[in-house]
Amino acid sequence: MRDFVYFEPKTISEAASLLARYKDEAKVIAGGTDLLVDMKHDRLQPKYLINIKAIPGLDYINFDSEGLRIGALATIRALEKSAELQQKYPIISQTAHHFGSIAIRNVATIGGNLCHAVPSADTAPGLIGLSASARIMGNDGDRVVPLDYFFTGSGKTVLKTGELLVEIQVPPMPANTRGVYLKYAIRSKSDLPVVGVAVVATMEPKQGLCRDIKIALGNVAPTPIRACFAEEVIRGQQVTPALIEKCAQAAADEAHPRPGSIRASPEYKKAMVKVFTRKALEEVLA
Ligand SMILES: Cc1cc2nc3c(=O)[nH]c(=O)nc-3n(C[C@H](O)[C@H](O)[C@H](O)COP(=O)(O)OP(=O)(O)OC[C@H]3O[C@@H](n4cnc5c(N)ncnc54)[C@H](O)[C@@H]3O)c2cc1C
Repeated sequence: MRDFVYFEPKTISEAASLLARYKDEAKVIAGGTDLLVDMKHDRLQPKYLINIKAIPGLDYINFDSEGLRIGALATIRALEKSAELQQKYPIISQTAHHFGSIAIRNVATIGGNLCHAVPSADTAPGLIGLSASARIMGNDGDRVVPLDYFFTGSGKTVLKTGELLVEIQVPPMPANTRGVYLKYAIRSKSDLPVVGVAVVATMEPKQGLCRDIKIALGNVAPTPIRACFAEEVIRGQQVTPALIEKCAQAAADEAHPRPGSIRASPEYKKAMVKVFTRKALEEVLA
């Protein structure tokens, strides 16, 4: 690992100023579970490391009438253990429960998971399914970007030089809404997913009708993606096994995994998208 100059800013604006000053030569570090691996393997050699973990009050999980707000420094373990989150947004705590090992979850942050922006990031599909947004701050002020538009490529986000992700905002879940994130991993659920499927659906319970649905897929494209055509198959319809099958096939058709992945061939990933979308739909629409 190369030498670097280390900073521990105490405010967001101090961190943003450092990022603006050192530009591409600087990197933010939060839990370090992605960044330090990249540095150790010489994939990244930042000259300046800006540790944001010392910024107080950025690790909250707050609930109000607007929904849920999660500070970028909230750890995956905190998301897993929050009783209120388990009750109000179980898809988030369940996702956290199957994320790496406890040692990793104790230090890995939600902000780091989203900003590292690998297509396999486990927190992304569920949050996209929940219509979450990212609050971004920099020297020029702050802006809120729907997570659907946050990822711009593998390892790339809308963050500009000098900007930080500070908060994830999640609207309230409408009545009769359920969500699930299923990940298919080779050895255990704690590994990075071969594919990940999140389904968040709102039902009209008496009529068995699916009022609204979002389906998000992980690790089948350069970024996490919505399966919008698959959603259209089932939105506003009476749910039947045949429709679930059609929807799962449509999700598989929307996946476009790159060839040459070390985990699985594109054909296998598409087949797994179909299997796991069907499972997720059956769980959520039951
Ligand atoms: C053994 C192991 C198992 C893992 N298992 C999983 C798994 O099951 N699922 C999964 O999805 N991931 C997994 N990961 C990957 C990693 O743990 C997560 O992506 C983690 O959430 C990253 O968070 P961090 O705080 O450690 O980020 P860091 O490593 O500190 O940062 C990651 C990137 O995000 C940037 N960054 C961090 N915070 C911000 C911010 N607030 N604003 C702007 N930029 C920021 C950094 O500059 C860096 O580029 C695993 C990693 C390891 C080593």
